[in-house]
Amino acid sequence: EVYVLRLGHRPNRDKRVTTHVALVARALGASGFIMEGNDESVFKSVEKVKELWGRRDFVVQSVKNGRKFVEDWRRNGGRAIHLTMYGEGLNSKVGELRSQSPLLLIVGAEKVEGWYFRNVDYNVAIGHQPHSEVASVAIFLDRIYMGEELDIQYSDAKLRILPQRAGKRVVRVGS
Ligand code: SAM
Repeated sequence: EVYVLRLGHRPNRDKRVTTHVALVARALGASGFIMEGNDESVFKSVEKVKELWGRRDFVVQSVKNGRKFVEDWRRNGGRAIHLTMYGEGLNSKVGELRSQSPLLLIVGAEKVEGWYFRNVDYNVAIGHQPHSEVASVAIFLDRIYMGEELDIQYSDAKLRILPQRAGKRVVRVGS
């Protein structure tokens, strides 16, 4: 099981990116999204997607203090993985990480406090170039699940896509 913790959300600037972190987590097989701080508009968007496209058990949670959440997570036996371009390369760690659960992926917005670098189990880089928290979460999940997450179907979905070579077909499958 993988959960994603989003740090440093700035309500004025990060609504879209934070929402995308949560949607990618849900779509690519993670079990939940936790955000330090609160932003109703982010939670609303994610709940709307859950309602229509399924995975209503996907956890969406706000916490006041990310550090405390990480401490509790590790105390309860979970592994904490901070995604940062300064960390150890994913290729060298993915095998080891695949056998561990639950995993907490931590991603930042701007600068992440030094505390996280020192108090997690792993600092993992998705390549050693600066890019994006959305891409980092996506690639991490894809590598952990080895592509199988792309075939996930949620049994509680109301809508399902019938893949087309061209055009769009969506069927209503539940109530
Ligand atoms: N400039 C910021 C810093 O120095 O930490 C990074 C900002 S980046 C837009 C936001 C987040 O994306 C980072 O906190 C990290 O979690 C993630 N990220 C960006 N590039 C990454 C990489 N190459 N590997 C892993 N995570 C990365």
